[in-house]
Amino acid sequence: ATTAQGATGYLTIDLAAIGRNYRKLVSMLAPVRAGAVVKADAYGLGAERVARRLYREDCRHFFVAQFVEAVRLRPALAQDAQIFVLNGLQPGNEIACAEMGIVPVLNSLAQWQQWSAAARILKRCLPAVLQFDTGMSRLGFPREERAELAAALRDGTNVEILFIMSHLASADDIDSEQNGEQFAEMSRIADEFPGFDISFANSGGVFLGEAYLGVLARPGIALYGGAPNAGGKNPMEPVVSLNVAVVQTRTVPAGAKVGYGGAHVTQRETRLATIAAGYADGLPRCLSDRGAVYFKGIRLPIVGRVSMDSATVDITALPEGALTFGSLVEVLGRHQTLEDIARDAGTISYEILTGLGDRYDRQYR
Ligand code: PLP
Repeated sequence: ATTAQGATGYLTIDLAAIGRNYRKLVSMLAPVRAGAVVKADAYGLGAERVARRLYREDCRHFFVAQFVEAVRLRPALAQDAQIFVLNGLQPGNEIACAEMGIVPVLNSLAQWQQWSAAARILKRCLPAVLQFDTGMSRLGFPREERAELAAALRDGTNVEILFIMSHLASADDIDSEQNGEQFAEMSRIADEFPGFDISFANSGGVFLGEAYLGVLARPGIALYGGAPNAGGKNPMEPVVSLNVAVVQTRTVPAGAKVGYGGAHVTQRETRLATIAAGYADGLPRCLSDRGAVYFKGIRLPIVGRVSMDSATVDITALPEGALTFGSLVEVLGRHQTLEDIARDAGTISYEILTGLGDRYDRQYR
């Protein structure tokens, strides 16, 4: 395959596969419901398109991280879709949040008071979700704020609690003892705040067992084809493929310096191809002299440092002329999964996806 219309790379996003991944989770979870985490532009894949596709699968709970994301997404979805802001309120945005029908996840007494005040000003009951910190120490009501929150709820409030939630820090590791610790803390919270529905499981949590499910799971990475748990076979269908164009090929003698810093020196006569993706396109710089791309299943090692807009790969293993100006090489696809590239880069699939950048020709299927 070669490029058309001057695109330097094709990022294919298979919305149907996202739909199938969602359906797979839904059938595993039933009767527990599944929302969808579409923060950070649906992990870089396009929040509006992804959310609309999942709405067609009857998903009605959409989670973003920041208010600005909810503002962008709101017009794309029908009113019966609820959009929850995981980071909750920012100072001063409570009236806008209420007027747009966006639901904040309240993480602290400060956010609780801000939302209660908005309800008083607007003279109506406002919906919210309460998030509790069960041991991740990131977001959610800390233990020391629980008594005051419980008292506020007892005194009567014009905030309608839709459900309570917490987030698992180590759910991708089935054997982590932190899962059990967080579960025990969530059970104590459920006793202190009885009568509320619970949302607990992220993608990994879905695979931890029934006890972790509550009434609403919040998968993200599993929808996008990432492995919900470390190790073992990934049960999810791949969603993303990325093919990048060759800009130039050359043959260099033994002893040639390749790329910035001359960090790679060829050991033998070497055929090289420069491809049109660099760290600004989500090809991590730490893949310098480590990672690879593929052509017809043949591994082409990245040699020298990954630049901002390009990287150089060793194509000596290919028959001469197999790759030319405009040919496409696979960065993500059949031969190199999201997990493969994340492992080589010493990171997680989430960071690879959200880093893909906006210079590729995005093709939605
Ligand atoms: N719930 C919360 C609060 C999150 O922050 C996230 C993402 O980090 C998720 C759910 C989804 O997690 P995952 O992508 O691991 O399924």
